[in-house]
Amino acid sequence: MRHPPEDFAELRAEHEALIQFLYLAPVGLVQADADGAIGMINPIAAQLLMPLSRDGGLDNLLTLLQDVAPELRHLCARYERPAGKICDGLHLHLHAGGNARKQPQILSLTLLKLDAGRLMAVLEDVTLQVRRERQLRQNEAWLNAILTGIADYALVGLDAQGAIAAWNPSIARVTGHGEDAVGRPYSIFYPPDGMTPEHLLDRLREAGRDGWSLDEGRRVRADGSAFWGSALIAPLPEREPPGGAAPEGPAYCLILRDISEQRGASEQRRQEAFADHLTGLANRRAFFEAAGRELERSGALARPTAVIAFDADHFKAINDSHGHPAGDAVLRHLAGMLLNTFREVDVVARVGGEEFAVLLPSTGLAQAALVAERLRGAVAAQAAEVDGVRIACTVSAGVACLDDGDGGIDLLLKRADQALYAAKRGGRNRVECWRPALAGAPVHQSEGNEGAEHVA
Ligand code: GH3
Ligand code: MG
Ligand code: MG
Repeated sequence: MRHPPEDFAELRAEHEALIQFLYLAPVGLVQADADGAIGMINPIAAQLLMPLSRDGGLDNLLTLLQDVAPELRHLCARYERPAGKICDGLHLHLHAGGNARKQPQILSLTLLKLDAGRLMAVLEDVTLQVRRERQLRQNEAWLNAILTGIADYALVGLDAQGAIAAWNPSIARVTGHGEDAVGRPYSIFYPPDGMTPEHLLDRLREAGRDGWSLDEGRRVRADGSAFWGSALIAPLPEREPPGGAAPEGPAYCLILRDISEQRGASEQRRQEAFADHLTGLANRRAFFEAAGRELERSGALARPTAVIAFDADHFKAINDSHGHPAGDAVLRHLAGMLLNTFREVDVVARVGGEEFAVLLPSTGLAQAALVAERLRGAVAAQAAEVDGVRIACTVSAGVACLDDGDGGIDLLLKRADQALYAAKRGGRNRVECWRPALAGAPVHQSEGNEGAEHVA
């Protein structure tokens, strides 16, 4: 049959476009006859098949593949249908000559029968894809082993706001929480007032910035029982779903570990370094460390931080009339009342002989003054009992607050001491708040400070 010249030109153009496609296609394409003799091969296929050539030529597809897919010739011969897929995504493992340690390259082969005389092979290098899938399966197996096998770890996925993203058996094993935990903030693992919403976000931000965030302390189970735990938070790599929508799945991983048993020795050392031996409260050093940390964080996310300075009134007189050991007992009594009044998240410390300081994260001046007043009232109303003797005692308090941590703990404590000085001057057994008018006033100095006492 003859074509008119214009038809012929059109066909030629189509044919050229097809050849162009074969050459540019991002996969290897080989056209061969029924015996495998190669008629056309594109550059990618040539590159992929060349390592299989014994003589440097690319003449016959079935010969090239006979070592890596010995069954292929047989499959072609047995394929009876006039056209169709002889094999689909067959994996061919190409071992790098002699180097057993090198990972094999993996090709995926799809072989099509176009008609009685023509085969078309589609070849792709899937080495990375296969390796990645294997890695994923392995990670999943590891994770499953951890989730089901390691008894004192809970692995908790958290969303970007710190809410628990999904439940798994490890959470139940360590904390006793069921699926009802999903959607609740991870602070449910902390004592009821052991963490403010700001602290919860601080940890996430810290993990994002440093790669991880670790803390250790008292944790609670669903039934309210307490254990000593470490909590490591690490950000998870962002997985961008196709289409550029918001990343799905958890944003952080929280690894919660019950370390009640391991706690022993290291906790003892920590206690010795940071606890006041007489009252068991935090000591001056622990107070300054905790306050520094809190104020640094509060600067990042502007929020108020308050300090209350307490000083026992006329304590010298108590020692004088009841003896020093009785005075010690009164100090322990005061420490107990402080612990009962403040939240778990507040840092309650004995910073001097009969002087205490409390740091209140995320708390404004008015709120702190209220709690200080509550404590003052409670102390005045409840005498200490020492060896059957009731010893009355009162405290004075100075309250100060910084809105964004600017000036640091030194400024905050200085202002609280200036307010405390005002409370002493005002008659004792009272609470004073710092105000700018007190800026030049003397401070009521605590023992750790240099210099003499200014209090009259
Ligand atoms: P003010 O109301 O002005 O604070 O009077 P004050 O007597 O409490 O103040 P002052 O600073 O003059 O005296 C503090 C007293 O606290 C003197 C000291 O003996 C006593 N003190 C300090 N540390 C301890 C301690 O660890 N145990 C006992 N029992 N007393 C202590
Ligand atoms: Mg005193
Ligand atoms: Mg004093």
